Amino acid sequence: MSSVDEATQTQLRNIEAQTGHSLDELIAAAEALYDAYQLDALPAALRRNSLDYYYLSIYPSLGEMRPLAEENAPPYPATVRNAYVHIPFCSGVCDFCSYYLVAISPRRRAAVARYLERVAAEFDHHARHTTLDLTTLYVGGGTPSLIPPDALERFLAHLRQRGYLNPAALGTLELHPELFVDEEAAVAFLRVLRHYGIGRVSVGYQASDDDLLRATKRRHASGFLAGAMALLRAEGFTVNLDLMYGLVGQPAAAWATTLADAVAAAPDSISTYFLFVDRGTGLYERVRRGAVALPTHRAAQTQHIMAQLYLEAHGYYELPNDFWARGVVDPATFRPERLPSAAVTLPVGPGAYGYYGGAQVANVFDLAEYERRADAGQSPLWRGYRLNADEAFHRDVMFALKNDPFIDCSLFRAAYNRSPLERFADRFARLEELGLVAIAGDHIRLTAKGRLCVEEIAALFRHPAIAPAADAAHPLLQKHNFAPTYPVAGW
Ligand code: SF4
Repeated sequence: MSSVDEATQTQLRNIEAQTGHSLDELIAAAEALYDAYQLDALPAALRRNSLDYYYLSIYPSLGEMRPLAEENAPPYPATVRNAYVHIPFCSGVCDFCSYYLVAISPRRRAAVARYLERVAAEFDHHARHTTLDLTTLYVGGGTPSLIPPDALERFLAHLRQRGYLNPAALGTLELHPELFVDEEAAVAFLRVLRHYGIGRVSVGYQASDDDLLRATKRRHASGFLAGAMALLRAEGFTVNLDLMYGLVGQPAAAWATTLADAVAAAPDSISTYFLFVDRGTGLYERVRRGAVALPTHRAAQTQHIMAQLYLEAHGYYELPNDFWARGVVDPATFRPERLPSAAVTLPVGPGAYGYYGGAQVANVFDLAEYERRADAGQSPLWRGYRLNADEAFHRDVMFALKNDPFIDCSLFRAAYNRSPLERFADRFARLEELGLVAIAGDHIRLTAKGRLCVEEIAALFRHPAIAPAADAAHPLLQKHNFAPTYPVAGW
């Protein structure tokens, strides 16, 4: 462990004893840690930048994938156990949002019901090529809670009757706070979920500051939380809360209050999201015009450190970055069981990403085209990139950094006959020198400091041969790309 880490660990222990008492102390402690970590001195490629932030959920990126046709489609695996279903409808568009969606009035939810019938047909399409035995089903968006309860019932009944949904499936669905405006409707929706084994929900709480929620066009206030939590607990749900930091005009004190309110609601887990500003969003345009100033690196990273201090002091552990689980006795005992590429996920619905057949794939990002293909019985898969073994090795390093408790080199040796420590000896030595990773035997673990810039670290392992596709400059691809533009070389 480096001397920076020893100092900061001592500081952390002292601070943890205090954070329950004063949010001002929390802010001061996080500021002090920012300096102790020497985050101002990080190489440019490792410094977080809202305008060039790589939220690592996909690699290669949409702009690096190639158009898919029947002849270059990746082969289906024998069995698919995970599916991501995208519901591309929202009641409005949040100022920062770059997900693929269509804004509709909540009165037009019949359109969502019709869409879900095509999604059911898409599952049937895939089932002609593979066995669907889903043990995890994630329904995100967009706003899945816009689905009318009777349409949700028909959809889930379809998956169950066709045998696509394993009886022991773990399901998660994202809820927008507007669901809780009508308690009766919320109960009807939640009971359908429970009936079909979707027992985990993720609630987009985001912030306690109502002015901030208005400014970001979130279409809800913060006061729903206590009632919503009581309802969700009464209905037997496991609950994750989504929070956002690094927002324009979000002072540290407002973030501290959000953290305190979230902890007081006692969810099972918390996800914290750093604001990123993609082309084509309302916020990007305002930043481009100079109408708003984005938070500084210090302000944004201080907020992440505040989350580390406050949430860990209240029994939530970062596993491994920006996701916090409660009740974990000793996070150090967690270990990855397989490489990220072993997790096959089918992308369902426009705007969905997945990975199978050694390829990162994306469903079509166009609702009208999706409907046309569905009605013609054609595949909705739109773009993809099939990775060779070396490219897959790089991708596994990136996602193991982001999603696993640590990189286990023995898993890499078993799959690829080589270890990231041998392959990238210089890079990991430099990261260790910077106090960003700790290396012990076969394990490479991000430090608390390293977790502050995990995406930037992961981006250092992008494969040099994976280049943008010929059509990568198309505005649709630019908007939904989620890829860094900063160079890897010279960091
Ligand atoms: S952030 Fe969520 S609720 Fe807001 S527009 Fe995007 S998908 Fe919809």
